[in-house]
Amino acid sequence: MRFISATHARSRVRTIARPYPPQGHRVNISLVNPPRPLILASNSSYRAELLRRLVPSFGAVPADIDESRRPGECPRVARMGFPAACTIMKFCSQCGGRLVLLVPPGDNRQRHVCARCNAIHYQNPKLVTGCIPEWQGQVLLCRRAIEPRYGLWTLPAGFMENGESTHEGAVRETLEEANARVGIDDLFVTVNLPHINQVYMLFRGRLLDLDFHPGEESLAVELLREDQMPWDKMAFPTVSEALKLYFADCGKGRFPVRMLDIVRETGVPGRYQVRRIS
Ligand SMILES: [Zn+2]
Repeated sequence: MRFISATHARSRVRTIARPYPPQGHRVNISLVNPPRPLILASNSSYRAELLRRLVPSFGAVPADIDESRRPGECPRVARMGFPAACTIMKFCSQCGGRLVLLVPPGDNRQRHVCARCNAIHYQNPKLVTGCIPEWQGQVLLCRRAIEPRYGLWTLPAGFMENGESTHEGAVRETLEEANARVGIDDLFVTVNLPHINQVYMLFRGRLLDLDFHPGEESLAVELLREDQMPWDKMAFPTVSEALKLYFADCGKGRFPVRMLDIVRETGVPGRYQVRRIS
């Protein structure tokens, strides 16, 4: 072991970090505050030391810094500015190499970057699509047979699949969860859930027949009027907020496209702020 200065460390990184860590690492170094003096091993583990000690001081962290974390709950990574709800990945899905968190050149936030092949593994919000299936003033709800929120009520909705459109996904989810066939009308509401990196797109749907029954993910499916809604047994705030808007608009006979932000209150489990955007 030997001591080196911050300036020396920077020059060593320029030399040693090519091509590992990737090009982006060198660019990123010039964008952050000068690091503290560091202790680096002067042996064959130099690259590992770079990742483990030097890289964090420059604003990037190895992706395996906290072995005890649960997905999305790494406090140190959160302090480094990486969104807490993001999945922390350790290995590259293209080559199996180690991943580090750093800001690639031209970017402005940390990404998982492969230290071997330089692949950048972006993470983006997931899209949930579904519908409000209506029949003569009643709405079809599903009682969940799966976690999370087992036994609670929801609208037919789920993660969009590759190769389908949003309204096709809503039809598919309604068929899968309620064995119900719907004709999709307009988009009713977009709900942004930034704390879990999800966006809901819920459409208005017309039940085409009354031949429905629970799918594998549902304990029960029922057509319910507004005064029969199990408001205190709704699975997700997205569902209850969308249904409140829906029944209010039913009363007016107009269905303008809505947008909501639902944000979990920090430190208060189960409490959310609902912001109506339109
Ligand atoms: Zn790779």
